[in-house]
Amino acid sequence: MDRNLLLVSNSKTAADKRFLGYCEHEVQEHFAGVNTVLFIPYAEPNAVDALALNTRRARGETLDIPCSNERRQAYTDHLRERFQQMGFNLVGIHEQDNPIEAVKNAEAVYIGGGNTFDLLRALYSNGLFHPLQKRVTEGMPYLGVSAGTVVAGMNIGSSNDNSKPVPSLDALELVPFCIKPHYLDPLVISNEQIELIRAVHAQAAHRLAHQGEQHFERIMEFHHDFPYTVVGVHEGGILQVKGDHVNLIGTHGARVLQKNGFVTKYEPPQFYEPGASLDFLLQNPPKKVSSNAVLHRAERAPDSWFANLSEFERTMFLLGY
Ligand code: ASP
Repeated sequence: MDRNLLLVSNSKTAADKRFLGYCEHEVQEHFAGVNTVLFIPYAEPNAVDALALNTRRARGETLDIPCSNERRQAYTDHLRERFQQMGFNLVGIHEQDNPIEAVKNAEAVYIGGGNTFDLLRALYSNGLFHPLQKRVTEGMPYLGVSAGTVVAGMNIGSSNDNSKPVPSLDALELVPFCIKPHYLDPLVISNEQIELIRAVHAQAAHRLAHQGEQHFERIMEFHHDFPYTVVGVHEGGILQVKGDHVNLIGTHGARVLQKNGFVTKYEPPQFYEPGASLDFLLQNPPKKVSSNAVLHRAERAPDSWFANLSEFERTMFLLGY
């Protein structure tokens, strides 16, 4: 496959608040020779509300929640400025008369972050899913950021986002694995250390004592249904995919969480630092399991095994245990 992808975990860092500021050089290198980048803003992150509202305020209009198109426009305008600074023109897909033709003729594409479910649904409903898949597998440079990185994988079940209705979780399959951006490892901290922090920052101490699921536990749940390896990319980490090679670059590393047969295998933890080759991710990928097949299997399951359950098991099942 002639793919040429730059899959970035996040758009900003604490140290550099410009969009793609911390990975500016990698983006410039990735798009070298490209004049105009086609931007897909369908993930519409919350952050663009403020940009859209500012435009309204400047026009002296009333302030209510921006509609989808305004958010897409505000997002695109903001990125257009950034891309000009980096030496590229940028056009929004929603600004094109025929979005499908725009993908077919694009020099390069950039899918921005936001809500992965909104993004995938819009790719399906605007008929862009297959044209995009075709162009990118033929070698059109692709830049994905966060949600745009997740949709490059097999399936968006690895996303961190609030789920929303989508026709399918199946993603663009530009790589035979899944990606979890903004990946966080469990924090190893003692109660004594938390108490020390509480003295200077109560909210931080409360956060550090958080007992909700860790990212790796969410991936374990994902592995109940899907066989794909998940790459948990830390903020600052970037996957550079060229043909049959995957390199981890950027400022931070990634954890690779593989499902091993029936049992999920997370020990010893597989952590990779920037500079590592992850070519193995492209070798012997598992057979595709579509999200509709999982749905179908779940619906059919009671038919096949209900009859074999004991009275007690049947009661527990009906009670939802
Ligand atoms: N909401 C994220 C983003 O695009 C995607 C994710 O975390 O799964 O910024």
